[in-house]
Amino acid sequence: MKNRFTHESKTSRGRIRKEIKEAVYERDGNRCQYCFKPFDRSQLTIDHLVPLASGGLDEITNYVTCCLDCNQSKADKPLAEFARSLGIEVERLPVHGDPVIDNADLPIEIRILRKRIYDHSRSKNRPIGGKSAQKKIEKQYRRAFWKTPEGMALEEQFPDLPGQVRVMIPEIQAIAGDAASFVLLLELAKSAKTRNLIGTILTKDKDVVKIVEAMTAKTNDEQLKKRIQQAWQRFGREMSRLGSPIPASHNNKLHSAVEFPHSSGHASITPQQERTDARDDHGEENATL
Ligand SMILES: [Zn+2]
Repeated sequence: MKNRFTHESKTSRGRIRKEIKEAVYERDGNRCQYCFKPFDRSQLTIDHLVPLASGGLDEITNYVTCCLDCNQSKADKPLAEFARSLGIEVERLPVHGDPVIDNADLPIEIRILRKRIYDHSRSKNRPIGGKSAQKKIEKQYRRAFWKTPEGMALEEQFPDLPGQVRVMIPEIQAIAGDAASFVLLLELAKSAKTRNLIGTILTKDKDVVKIVEAMTAKTNDEQLKKRIQQAWQRFGREMSRLGSPIPASHNNKLHSAVEFPHSSGHASITPQQERTDARDDHGEENATL
């Protein structure tokens, strides 16, 4: 399994799902992120911060809200060149949609760490656009992450989870309102296809279980449906292993008898590891240190 940051989405240009688009507009306050003017949603589009043609990722970390004019003048220009044409230093551009940096609920230490790594790469004039550069950044971040108290605690609490799932736990904790959501989010984090829902469609204050149920019923994306169904199966197994009732529409009442771990607290559940393709890439990273 590839991690959420380095996998390549199967979505091709122009096929960004409506919910994702809406989430990006919402995140960016319906403002074009290049000219900063507010627009009606019908006048907005999604731009790839780093063009696909330059190896930019087709995923939310690389999406920005953009007006039609700016979209046209940017076209496939490399980000640095376009930024120069706007008189903006590339390193001053925010890392839009970054699931870590943009998440106000994550410990500030973690967010700063990540921003620092981005800024460092930019200041070295390393092209952030290329796939390999992006991968390098993610690798650096995760390497640095495991050395923070947060990372070390997570490693101890969830020794059996794949690294790319474990690295998302602070984000998942910030979203999950109860044990069931927590377990479900962990299961969704195991597949690249469903991982992207976390922090985009599945956000804080939303009923994660309900939304995922609705998506399972509604989506026309067969791949996505399959992955969600697999996550549901693992979720069911995990919940019964924990002796926890399965939520409402799965014929039981949701309650939070199982405590889910808070960043400051102690874990009381250790979700089962999928010993399939979900190999812990943490070890692999250490090997390259
Ligand atoms: Zn604009």
